[in-house]
Amino acid sequence: MKPSPITPTIDLDAAGVQHGFLRLPYSRDDSAWGSVMIPIAVIRNGEGPTALLTGGNHGDEYEGPLALFDLARTLDPVSVSGTVIIVPAMNYPAFRAGTRTSPIDRGNLNRSFPGRPDGTVTEKIADYFQRELLPRADIVLDFHSGGRTLDFLPFCAAHILPDKAQEASVMAAVEAFSAPWSMRMLEIDAIGMFDTAAEEMGKVFVTTELGGGGTSTAASVRIARRGVMNVLRHSGIVSGAVEKSQTSWLDMPSGDCFCFAEEDGMAETMVDLGDAVCEGDVIARIHAIGRTGVAPVDIRAKMSGILAARHFPGLVKAGDCMSVVAVVDR
Ligand code: ZN
Repeated sequence: MKPSPITPTIDLDAAGVQHGFLRLPYSRDDSAWGSVMIPIAVIRNGEGPTALLTGGNHGDEYEGPLALFDLARTLDPVSVSGTVIIVPAMNYPAFRAGTRTSPIDRGNLNRSFPGRPDGTVTEKIADYFQRELLPRADIVLDFHSGGRTLDFLPFCAAHILPDKAQEASVMAAVEAFSAPWSMRMLEIDAIGMFDTAAEEMGKVFVTTELGGGGTSTAASVRIARRGVMNVLRHSGIVSGAVEKSQTSWLDMPSGDCFCFAEEDGMAETMVDLGDAVCEGDVIARIHAIGRTGVAPVDIRAKMSGILAARHFPGLVKAGDCMSVVAVVDR
């Protein structure tokens, strides 16, 4: 395969603290020989495992970038045994635009793996992570939240995996993160995800959904900052005990977790995040917006549990994910 067109401006193997960029050539109207400059920091000290910490895989999710720009600035290499690679905003064009996908090619980075060295800008970023950064990592923490269109209970998550030893390792890392909720996550569409790429390489891969709505809260950013340090402590890269706090496990046992809108309209949530729901309960209504005198359409829970995620904007379109119900593990 062709080499990646991306060049790091720092030596990824050097000791100490390096701040630089992954430079991706991108010729365009306003910069003939221009580049996309993706910020990267590497903090390395002695022998030990390597953690790859990423945010901004989707450009409108902020807990990850807030925690990781901060960590890159403050993590003292003396406290590190091993290597911490920090990319606070993976899909940097999307991050700068404040959008989920790239404004350059509409690429959803988390559906672009394994990527291509000769593909679109987004595919080139995926390819660099696939072939250059993931192979270096022992543990990967990829921050997400709901972005502009979803809102989540704050949870750290990992997937049920075919390799049960790997699954035990990822669930232990989720537990160490110590978000208020911990999720055994089911994906609607796992093909092309960074998660899948890392898991297939046998890495310990953990992710989060820490809120949403295209913003962050004081609480969600605190969870992110504590969680990333906990994962570094858990993996032995930073010394000290994990700062444990109460976490409750959630399951997504089947596709019945999800409800999707079947018409356009105005959304009314009937339960809030964390509320208990029973199978058959109306969890949201979609109101017609074209005329008066039309009854709203009820969206009913297909299983019992708690509301773990919901559609965020006031207006909804057919096909939008309206809600996710998860089962509390007791
Ligand atoms: Zn995301």
